[in-house]
Amino acid sequence: MDCTTSWATAVQTVWTRPWPRLFSALAELPDTHQILRQTCRDFADRELTPIAGRLDREHAFPLKQVQELGAMGVMAMEVPEELGGAGWTTWPTCICVVTLSCLPLCASSSSQSLYIGPVLKFGTEEQKTEWITPFTTGEKVGCFALSEPGNGSDAGAASTVARQEGDEWVLNGTKAWITNSWDAAATVVFATTDKKLKHKGISAFLIPMPHPGLSLGKKEDKLGIKATSTANIILEDCAGFKIAMQTLDSGRIGIAAQALGIAQASLDCAADYAHKRIAFGAPIGKLQAVQFKLADMNVAVESARLLTWKAALLRDSKKPFTKEAAMAKLAASEAATFCSHQAIQVLGGMGYVSDMPAERHYRDARITEIYEGTSEIQRLVIAGQILKEYQA
Ligand SMILES: Cc1cc2nc3c(=O)[nH]c(=O)nc-3n(C[C@H](O)[C@H](O)[C@H](O)COP(=O)(O)OP(=O)(O)OC[C@H]3O[C@@H](n4cnc5c(N)ncnc54)[C@H](O)[C@@H]3O)c2cc1C
Repeated sequence: MDCTTSWATAVQTVWTRPWPRLFSALAELPDTHQILRQTCRDFADRELTPIAGRLDREHAFPLKQVQELGAMGVMAMEVPEELGGAGWTTWPTCICVVTLSCLPLCASSSSQSLYIGPVLKFGTEEQKTEWITPFTTGEKVGCFALSEPGNGSDAGAASTVARQEGDEWVLNGTKAWITNSWDAAATVVFATTDKKLKHKGISAFLIPMPHPGLSLGKKEDKLGIKATSTANIILEDCAGFKIAMQTLDSGRIGIAAQALGIAQASLDCAADYAHKRIAFGAPIGKLQAVQFKLADMNVAVESARLLTWKAALLRDSKKPFTKEAAMAKLAASEAATFCSHQAIQVLGGMGYVSDMPAERHYRDARITEIYEGTSEIQRLVIAGQILKEYQA
């Protein structure tokens, strides 16, 4: 699935068009778009959908599926091909994530991307070969450790410290809520080298796992995304190597795509059931009350999709995308929560039990409004950007 060149061309072509043309171009994009989406959808239908309920119940990490996705390039979508990745841009990556619509797996893949990002951007060639290539195949997974027990939204208040001892950096502190932590072979940890500098004093460090001085807390018992492990990472005089000063402005488009996948899956589930379930002698899809729910869900899904595609296209075009990424994440995560809630209502009692995926979508959707910046933080980012635009 080498879509790099054609995607780059498609994105370029689309971007240079005025907005009304962009939307028609989105609808037109045939080959690469369709092939990519179909491949991911086939994989999801064949390998993920049948086991998603079991993974959730057993809290089991889908290692085999992660490795198969790794072989397809889906565990390292934006990594260049020479390092073993798929070499895709953001937009096709989003399409893939939406189509997989298996949130635990997408969350795992997203943490992997966050781990790879700083190594790819700032690592030496040797570091890239050692700390990226084995992670592209799904053979190893990485994690991204920014949050702490005392600060999540206020990431600049990091209290994990790094001090230099000769050639080594020694880290002390606790990182909280780290996705993939129990399954990871390495982590990128953010720590302060100078607390007085606040967020400007924060650097990224790479630590292999397991490693002397690094221990893991208990696996958190979560509402959703139960097939991924989430735990504290405790660092006690743990040696790591500094990758770079790293800004904390990490991408939110991937979470928007995850949320969009859940919103779409909820709509699919509700619309399918509306055809099949008979009440008062006719399918419930004939009832206007149910039709209105489906209509509202579809509006939420498509609004979120357009915002997500717009943010992805801006990023691929190397244009500023901070506001658009925050808007996409906000709209898509709220669409996921709304649609999964409505889907349960359409399914009635069947929505409340685990025989159908609706209740899992409802539980999984909730995290998308929290991690990588809560909805409140997205609103702050959007408002900040608007005020800046109108000041200029
Ligand atoms: C399942 C799961 C997986 C996660 N995975 C990772 C991971 O892999 N790596 C990682 O680093 N982190 C991870 N996180 C952490 C996640 O990013 C944080 O939980 C999130 O950023 C919120 O931080 P917090 O929990 O400290 O909440 P707080 O920051 O304490 O926020 C509490 C409430 O206050 C609101 N609030 C805070 N500040 C403001 C403000 N300035 N204005 C308005 N409202 C505000 C918030 O929106 C929220 O409603 C994960 C969390 C969970 C639950």
